[in-house]
Amino acid sequence: MAEQVLAAVRTGAHQTELREFPMPDIPEDGALLRMEAAGICGTDVKFYAKPPIDTPVIMGHENIGTIVKARRTFQERKGVKEGDLVFVEHYLPCLQCEWCHQGDYRLCAATDWRRNPDARRYGYTTSNNPPYLWGGFSQYMYLPWNAIVHKVPRGITPELASIVTPMANGVQWALFDCEVGYNSAVLVQGPGQQGLSQTVACRQAGASLIIVTGTDKDEARLHVARELGADHVINVDREDPLERIMDITGGDGVDVALDCTAGGGTKPIPLGIDSLKRKGGTLLLQGELQTFPDFPVGKVTNKYITIKSARGHNYQSCELALEQLTSDRFPLDLITTHRYGLKDTDEAIKAVGASEGVIHVSLMPWE
Ligand SMILES: [Zn+2]
Ligand SMILES: [Zn+2]
Repeated sequence: MAEQVLAAVRTGAHQTELREFPMPDIPEDGALLRMEAAGICGTDVKFYAKPPIDTPVIMGHENIGTIVKARRTFQERKGVKEGDLVFVEHYLPCLQCEWCHQGDYRLCAATDWRRNPDARRYGYTTSNNPPYLWGGFSQYMYLPWNAIVHKVPRGITPELASIVTPMANGVQWALFDCEVGYNSAVLVQGPGQQGLSQTVACRQAGASLIIVTGTDKDEARLHVARELGADHVINVDREDPLERIMDITGGDGVDVALDCTAGGGTKPIPLGIDSLKRKGGTLLLQGELQTFPDFPVGKVTNKYITIKSARGHNYQSCELALEQLTSDRFPLDLITTHRYGLKDTDEAIKAVGASEGVIHVSLMPWE
């Protein structure tokens, strides 16, 4: 095995450098992951443009790899062995708090990089921090005692497995948080990898109506949305989305509105609120806007709307997402559109969200 590990390091806004790091020593309770595929999402695009910290970071938080070295305690605790293909959650949690005990590592303070300067999270923690390999845009990644690994079921390629994160978010946000189920009517705003994954999760859960919106640049994605089970798609640049939604639902509106847009500004939230049924709908928000001018509080309370926040995925949603990937029910290969090698990391991040043919991009570090 090589003594040096090659990784793509974010050194500033829109800046990537290939750097070598020493191959880490693996302690009794640790493991080494050979990276196979790292999914790139809208968060990468956002933090590549505006890094949240100044220190260098190996990005890559949606990581699929093969365990190439696992010491005994790690194997016993995690139930994995050398040679296993695994999905590694990006959270590195304390495993002691109430959130950790219920599988909600996403909510653990030990992985909360916004508040805890010592937090560990793959793709977010600086590569100045030994043993350095805290991100998936790299040949190898270090797995400490608290890494959360999920075995990838047999027959799933690493590239397909790399969409497990948006798919897990689909299960978490639509099913667990917004309680989409049998006969639900759902609005999914934004037909990127996230919106499309929500579409699959909603369809699988029994939603009777799924409407997906997009813009002029999303024509190809809206087509894929249809293939994945959307009943109606709306190009908001061409038609009045609210009018169409009310037309489709006979004036009733939808049960759940999920915001999966990127860079949509203030428009998606009022559209979500207005599209919801007369009373008791559920709105899922993302935190793209720090504040919201003239937020229609009166409308929200009058319509008795429940607001949920999009916040990653728990252990169970990851397991269900991996199960979903083994099913042939949906043509999921329509989502995995692009792959890049390590030296093209900059291009790979920029490709996400750039041109309309791109849906999901995987970084394949050995290509
Ligand atoms: Zn992501
Ligand atoms: Zn915890």
